[in-house]
Amino acid sequence: MQEAVASVEPMDLTLRERYDAIRQRIATAAIRAGRKPEHIMLVVVTKSATPEQIRELISYGHQDFGESRVQQLIQRAAQIDEYLIRLRELRGSATEIRWHMIGSIQRNKVRKAVELSRLIHSVDSLRLAEEIHIQSARREQPIDVLLEVNVAGEASKHGITGAAVRHVVAQLDTMVNLRVRGLMCMAPLVGGAAVASQTFERAAELFRELRQSGVGGSCFDLLSMGMSGDFEQAIAAGANIVRVGSAIIGASDIDASPESGLP
Ligand SMILES: *Cc1c(COP(=O)(O)O)cnc(C)c1O
Repeated sequence: MQEAVASVEPMDLTLRERYDAIRQRIATAAIRAGRKPEHIMLVVVTKSATPEQIRELISYGHQDFGESRVQQLIQRAAQIDEYLIRLRELRGSATEIRWHMIGSIQRNKVRKAVELSRLIHSVDSLRLAEEIHIQSARREQPIDVLLEVNVAGEASKHGITGAAVRHVVAQLDTMVNLRVRGLMCMAPLVGGAAVASQTFERAAELFRELRQSGVGGSCFDLLSMGMSGDFEQAIAAGANIVRVGSAIIGASDIDASPESGLP
């Protein structure tokens, strides 16, 4: 029983306390890895958040939010836009927020995803990249994307396998309306901390290799990996974007979410 005092049930904490605690842990992990805390971007994943929670996070000054389904991204962005317009009228100052698309995208939803996202983390095929390229050409505004890699080679996972990544990156590099900014990866669901670390190390190695080969010019600089359960390991391996949902939002809201069903 000697360690019991140190542990506080995270869900007893307020949103503010959970958010601050995660920021603190990100900073500690960054420093431990010899990096600056401000060089790690936190994307708060809002798929199980209430609109009130998102507004509260915005009031802390948080700007980067992630959604894994386009349909929900559309709803969220509309709700939050309305709120931001009201804020602007009230305060006279503009608060900008950025949406990150982190989940798989059906072809018929690409247009919306491109329109609403600052960064698409989940490009998992050349075909999807081509569709994104077409849609961003229509907008005459290049979009930043990450390639989702499946370094563990899991059949159940989205993502491009390690062996195919170089080829796909080279293809994306020729698409003028699309900027390939780096890689995204997820740890396997099974295998625990050791397997997660191994996966992150391999993704980081691939990332460095591609970067050194000169793809994307000086723009190939983002490595998105790490979620609630493994973001510290991801930072240790070299992540500069982490995507954290439940550890900040709280797991209890998932059931209450009207969007928790299938598409
Ligand atoms: C849901 C999700 C996350 C966040 O997961 P948590 O475990 O809730 O932090 C991160 N990345 C992707 C792609 C997700 O779908």
